This record gives sequence, structure tokens and C-alpha cells, in this order.
Amino acid sequence: MTRERLTLFDTTLRDGAQTTGVDFSLEDKRQIATLLDNLGVDYVEGGYPGANPTDTEFFSKRPKIKAKFAAFGMTKRAGRSAANDPGIAALLDAKADTITFVAKTWDYHVHVALGCTLEENIEGIADSVAHVRKAGREVILDCEHFFDGYKANPDFALTCAKTAYDNGARWIVLCDTNGGTLPHEIEAIVTSVTKVIPGDHVGIHAHDDTGNGVANSFAAIRAGARHIQGTLNGLGERCGNANLVTIIPTLLLKKEYAERFEIGVDEGKLAQITQISRTLDELLNRSPNKHAPYVGASAFATKAGIHASAVMKDPRTYEHVTPESVGNRRKVLVSDQAGKSNILAELDRLGVDVSKDDPRVSRVLEEVKEKEALGYAYEGADASFELLARRMLGEVPEFFDVERFRVVMERRHNATGDFVSVAEAVVKVVIDGQTLTSVAEGNGPVNALDLALRSDLGKYQRHIADLELLDYRVRVFNGGTDAVTRVLIEFGDEAGQRWSTVGVSSNVIDASFQAILDGINWKLMKAGA
Ligand SMILES: [Zn+2]
Repeated sequence: MTRERLTLFDTTLRDGAQTTGVDFSLEDKRQIATLLDNLGVDYVEGGYPGANPTDTEFFSKRPKIKAKFAAFGMTKRAGRSAANDPGIAALLDAKADTITFVAKTWDYHVHVALGCTLEENIEGIADSVAHVRKAGREVILDCEHFFDGYKANPDFALTCAKTAYDNGARWIVLCDTNGGTLPHEIEAIVTSVTKVIPGDHVGIHAHDDTGNGVANSFAAIRAGARHIQGTLNGLGERCGNANLVTIIPTLLLKKEYAERFEIGVDEGKLAQITQISRTLDELLNRSPNKHAPYVGASAFATKAGIHASAVMKDPRTYEHVTPESVGNRRKVLVSDQAGKSNILAELDRLGVDVSKDDPRVSRVLEEVKEKEALGYAYEGADASFELLARRMLGEVPEFFDVERFRVVMERRHNATGDFVSVAEAVVKVVIDGQTLTSVAEGNGPVNALDLALRSDLGKYQRHIADLELLDYRVRVFNGGTDAVTRVLIEFGDEAGQRWSTVGVSSNVIDASFQAILDGINWKLMKAGA
């Protein structure tokens, strides 16, 4: 049985660059292009050469990728020919395989934004596409506001699209630019377009403003479109673009699509998609969405005790695909609803070797329940849970003892008369009967304490030299200033390990200190100190 080919077009580096808080450097762009190429997308849209210096430079030293490298730009301006349009000249100068033109296809926008006639707009599309084709380059036309345009004036919207096709554009991409169109409307409109332009020349560019970016892409495929645009992790302005990290696993793992279509991503690459998604977040310094379909840390997490035992017996009861297929992993959460099966599953995942009838397992469960009653949460603190369990199993030595610590904070004028706050911490630790005293200043009490504790741990210092505090979160519950505070800290090291710990106290500094201690002890335990 032959399957139809679907083309994947990634616009992370162009439309995704519109994301609030995202600013790609040249190096970011290179790394992301390589990431996308390794994944197996067919097109990587690099940006808008001529529009900003980063994009111009990115195109002048084009990355070495197998995927087609696309440059984005506008069709010619009214009143001049494509051959005399400096914007188009810049696009042709860029080292791109494909030129993606954006053109208006909503009559209202042509009048308001361009101030030209509908005929001039159509002529602009025809001349621009033909000119680039004559220069031997592939052309894609992004039909801006196509769906709104089609609802307002179907003849005009269709004429714009058909004109590009007739002049040799490879793909006519229907864009839901403001993201407001619903799946059934997408399906109906794409169906009518494919009566005029063959579906293997029609693409979809969806946004997620109604939470339907992915659903709209699939609606278009069902209606005959064979080219899908999207971004990694759904990056994009407002609510983002259609998320390729959701679309790709669905295409490969869901029978309806897997049997009918093939894409450039194979099963081996699919098993790296979780890693690719997180690498992008890492590059952009964003914390990954835990609840992201397929790739989120919680995508295969089960909390309730009764569900957990069912998952362990037969994962299919609560999992629609296997976590391994997308490079993710199953996670049974340790929580106050935990039963013995959760604890056993979690110990197994952490590689703790213990028989299920070992009475110590019940003691670990009791301890977890007691701690959770005090406000501890181990769901986001794997390392603290592992320490607790291994301690109860007698596997963790007492590396050091904190005799005492003190933190003082001062708010004062500095030499230039500005108000500054400075914190200073003193920590006394005992290692092998010897007391070590460390002092450090920090921008806040927790920072000072952390720096002091880690500045001298005697013979253990070399094991924690590359330890880094990556994320620090505080949650206060039960009301006012006398409330209970829970601190979650994420640590990392040069080997790329990441681990999270928790501390709870009515005092935020004390809670932070517990979490820091767990972080250090876990690292020493793993290092075999
Ligand atoms: Zn867009």
C-alpha cells in the first residue's frame, strides 16, 4: 500500500521569533536549524533576510542542512515591477532554496493596509511568483488571513491563491493569521480550495488562539492539504503557532494518519522528540511545559494509588501511546494518595533494589505520608525522595553535619547613596570531627547561605564544585506571615544531571536550607563520596 507524502514546514525561526520574551541570537538560530534538520522536517524557514541584521547574516552563512532552507518576504509593492523591487532582490540574494512570499488575501486588508486595488494585489502576486520562478527558485505563497478573507469574499481569496498556483508556486499555504477559525470551518474551506488547486499543492498555517492550532492542522489534512506549517513547542506570537511537537507524534502513532501518510520523520527520530523539545527550551531559557502532550514531564505521570497499580500491571489502561515511542518516560508520582505500589514503582525507576515484601518499604511509605502531612511534596522533588528512601534503607552515609548557621541582612546606603540590601551568612559544618567555618555575602539571605555552605566542604568540595542552582521556587500555604513555606530547588551539574529537592518550614530560610542540603547530599551520594 502506498502512502501519501505529507510535507512538514517549520517556521520556528521566523513566525516563532514573534514569541513574547524570545529573542534568537545568530548562534541560537544555527543550533535550532540543526535540531530541526536532525528531526527530519522538510523545510526550515530561517527568517526575513533584509529585514533585520541577524536574519541577513544567518542567510549569508547558511547553515549546513539537508532540509530546504526558506527565506520569507513580501510580494512586490504596487507601482513597480518585481524585477525592480529591492525587497525581492534581497530575497533572491539570500542563500535560500525556497522563497516564501506572504500576500494579502482578505479584500478588507488590501484596501486598509495596502491602499491598493484588488486587481493590483493579484497582479503583485502573479508578477512576484513568476519573477522568482524565472530566477530558478522554488516559491511558496503564504495567503495571509485566508480564512477570514474567504468568508468575506471567497472569489477574491481563491483568485489570489489560484494566481500563485498558475504562476508556478509549489505550495499555496492557507494561513489562519489571527487564529480565530474553528476546525469545522477549516475543513469546509480547505475542501473547497482543493477543488480549484490540487491538495498536493495546498498547505495549512494555523495559530492556537482558540486552542485549536493542532486540530485545525489535522482538519486541513483531512480536507486534502498536504503541507503543514508549525513551530517547535508551539512557539509563536499571542497563543503560538500549531505545535509540530504535537503534530509529528500524532501523524506517526495514530493509525488514521500513520496508515495513510508518510513524513520525513521516522520512528528513530520520533524517539528523540522529547529531547529536542527540551533542548529548545534549554536554549531559550524557558522552563518546559510539564503538561505538553507527548513530551511533557507529566504526560505519562500517574498519581492516584489505584491508577498506579493498574499502570504497572498494564500501562495501556492509562496511556494512549507508549512513553518510549516519543522518548519520554512513565512516572508514578509519590503523593499523599500513594499506595505501596507507587512507592515500589518509584523505587524501581530510581534503580533502588528492594523486594516488594521488604518491611522497610512500608516504613518509607509511612515516612512519606507523615512528611506530606507537614507540607512536603515529592512529586517535583525526586532527589529528596530518593535520599529519604535510601536513608531508610541504610544506604546513605552521614557525609557532614551542620552544627549551626546564621544569616544577617542589612539594608543601607552604599557609597553613591543608593539603597542596597546585603546578606551575610556564616555556616559551621563538622566533617570527621573537624569543624569548618565558612562566611559568604550574597544578594539575599538564601543566596548567602548557599554560597557559604558550598564554599568549603573540606574533602567533599571537589564533588560539588560543578554544582549549580538552576531554579528556586517558593510556595506559601495556610495564609499569612506565619504560614508554612515550601521551597523547591532544581540543581544541575556539568555532566548534565538535573535533580530537584524540597524543604518545608514556617521559616523560608530554613526551608531553603533543607532543600540545599538535600541537593548537596544527593550529589555526594551519586558521586559515591
Ligand atoms: Zn503565522
